[in-house]
Amino acid sequence: RGAIRFDNVHFAYDSERQILKGVSFEVPAGKTVAVVGPSGAGKSTLSRLLYRFYDVQSGSITIDGQDVRNVTQKSLRAVIGMVPQDTVLFNDTIAYNIRYGRIGASEAEVEKAADIAQIGGFIRALPQGFSAMVGERGLKLSGGEKQRVAIARTILKSPPILILDEATSALDTATEQDIQAALDVVSQNRTTLVIAHRLSTVINADEIIVLRAGEIAERGTHAQLLAQN
Ligand code: ADP
Ligand code: ADP
Repeated sequence: RGAIRFDNVHFAYDSERQILKGVSFEVPAGKTVAVVGPSGAGKSTLSRLLYRFYDVQSGSITIDGQDVRNVTQKSLRAVIGMVPQDTVLFNDTIAYNIRYGRIGASEAEVEKAADIAQIGGFIRALPQGFSAMVGERGLKLSGGEKQRVAIARTILKSPPILILDEATSALDTATEQDIQAALDVVSQNRTTLVIAHRLSTVINADEIIVLRAGEIAERGTHAQLLAQN
């Protein structure tokens, strides 16, 4: 479940400029579709519309055939997991930050998610900043570790739909590959919308959509797009 369909989506933040100009594509249930393209093309706007931070002005976005405009943002958050470019942590323990994915989760479930994301060693630690206030030695998390917290949160939440919005683009190359491997595991069998800058980071996507200035310029598998260019 969790099939997503963008159908002739038009969107503008203001009357000045149309951002999306009739975008149509599907993410079949359990598949991964990547949207790539230059900065400002409208890629993140697609994820904001799916999440209903904004609503489309014409056309529609559906999940399993249901228009997202008929779904509350709360319900959408229950089925969509998001790993953003730069995860902002709450001023609380790493365990708390992971549990945020599913508040009712048991201690054992939180620990298991942390282990899978390879941050099992320090879930009692506090992110640096808050720790100073309570007089404990805080832990300064690297960008990769923060993304692992977001990944553990997503593992715990286990949503049918996943949005990876530039989830590795703030990381150095070695860390990027490491986190990418973890994300590949999490996105398996989930309907996944990946937003990325570069084609080279989305080799395994079932389909790649190239968005330019709010329109689909090209689409195909990684191999097909390479052959065309
Ligand atoms: P991308 O993810 O491809 O870099 P975005 O979807 O973030 O592009 O943004 C597309 C365009 O919309 C950009 O030109 C951006 O400046 C503009 N934009 C984004 N958010 C807003 C907003 N809240 N109000 C007005 N313009 C916005
Ligand atoms: P931008 O590209 O403009 O920095 P993002 O696309 O990362 O913004 O996020 C758009 C908005 O959604 C921001 O206001 C951000 O704080 C919020 N946001 C991002 N991820 C989540 C999330 N998982 N849950 C709730 N809000 C989120």
